[in-house]
Amino acid sequence: MRHCNSVFKAQDIWFFCDEENKIKRKLYLAFCPICQKSIALYSYFDNKINDYVEKYYYSGGVERIKQKLKSDRTATMLGFKNNYKMPSGFKYGINKEIKKMGKIVEIRQFASDFEGNKILVKKIKNGKP
Ligand SMILES: [Zn+2]
Repeated sequence: MRHCNSVFKAQDIWFFCDEENKIKRKLYLAFCPICQKSIALYSYFDNKINDYVEKYYYSGGVERIKQKLKSDRTATMLGFKNNYKMPSGFKYGINKEIKKMGKIVEIRQFASDFEGNKILVKKIKNGKP
């Protein structure tokens, strides 16, 4: 996305169902890192003109286009990320000791990546897996 002579990545992308003449519809959402304005880029392929169309929206226009397109939304990029927060890349193990009255009653083993995503791998209760 572009604004203030700079190019930056979208913070979220909305995906939409196809319309008769508009397919591959996407709404890119971001804040310009230079002026901090909220910016939306609506992009789709127009079958009538056989080309991609890109429209930019700013500030108040961003909210209006979001409201307008909300009901056609099928997925969001942030939604994907939040639904699939699995550790990726390098992993390391974490053991977390659960104590009760000073005694270790359970050890929880997690696998974690370096972005802090972790999953519980194993629970060991009273010294037994
Ligand atoms: Zn800007």
